[in-house]
Amino acid sequence: MCVRRAGLDALAETARAAGADVRERTRVTGLLWAGRRVGGVRVTERGGRAYDIRARYVIGADGRRSTVARLAGAERPYLARADGRACYYAYFEDVRADLRPVAAQWRQGAELATAFPCDGGLTLVLLMPPEARAAEFQGRVEEEYDRTVKELLPDLSERLAGSPRATRVFGAARLESYFRPSAGPGWALAGDAGHFKDPVTAQGIRDALRYGRLLGEALGAALGTAGDQGVGDPTGDMAGDPTGDMAGDAGGGMAGDLGCGWSVRCCGRPRRCGRRPGASIASSDRRGETA
Ligand SMILES: Cc1cc2nc3c(=O)[nH]c(=O)nc-3n(C[C@H](O)[C@H](O)[C@H](O)COP(=O)(O)OP(=O)(O)OC[C@H]3O[C@@H](n4cnc5c(N)ncnc54)[C@H](O)[C@@H]3O)c2cc1C
Repeated sequence: MCVRRAGLDALAETARAAGADVRERTRVTGLLWAGRRVGGVRVTERGGRAYDIRARYVIGADGRRSTVARLAGAERPYLARADGRACYYAYFEDVRADLRPVAAQWRQGAELATAFPCDGGLTLVLLMPPEARAAEFQGRVEEEYDRTVKELLPDLSERLAGSPRATRVFGAARLESYFRPSAGPGWALAGDAGHFKDPVTAQGIRDALRYGRLLGEALGAALGTAGDQGVGDPTGDMAGDPTGDMAGDAGGGMAGDLGCGWSVRCCGRPRRCGRRPGASIASSDRRGETA
């Protein structure tokens, strides 16, 4: 349910092993346009070197403050709702092996807390006080976190007896759940870049993986299986239900026209949109370095 960053970083190696060119410490700083269609990105390495990468499709998997969403004009959500609660969380070395696999929630007064099963013998404890209490955490987050558990959430305090806090307290306030327009000609958004929901659901990582995979399947079909053969008719590869075990999910995070003849709908099933793709991208050179 709650996989830590280090565990997820292994995915980069999996991608490399599958043939992906993974470039770390490199930021997307601009989009390359060919008319109304996105045709690549401008990137800047940590050392300052900047260059262009041309691509038939650009996927923004760059989180809530997505640069790709902003530059594609999709930053403003079409549906959004302020959370109303702040978030403060920390990991505990959980001595209760019997309870560690159990997600549990406590509501006492206006306070809300959730314990999420985690890898490595840890349990993540997320406090979500009313947003108005965020000021009380300002500048003294550790103290207020510990005080809240001890004084305002005694049942949680009892659950954590003998389990030391293993990390500092991480915080986030003024969160907003949203759906953004998530695809257009030559571009799409995956994960938090496209939609974000209340952390209490603990679904964000799973959804990012799930919809990333769906998007990969839709684009893989559009690109063809024998390498970069142009945007052809992907019907063959997509025959049947391409989503496999993902069928029937109604909580999707993507909706829009990819500009490749396919659209991605919030039900998670790629559907043919009937439009021919724009033909303006001449180069499929993924490196295309110009500086
Ligand atoms: C307080 C809190 C608690 C949460 N708890 C849970 C939980 O228990 N379980 C769960 O499943 N989810 C949880 N979530 C949600 C989860 O963290 C996200 O849904 C998930 O990380 C989304 O993954 P992502 O890859 O889309 O985005 P991110 O994890 O944000 O990754 C985006 C990546 O893009 C990179 N990036 C950003 N800008 C650029 C750029 N311009 N160029 C190149 N790279 C860039 C970033 O460095 C980052 O590595 C929580 C969220 C919050 C705020």
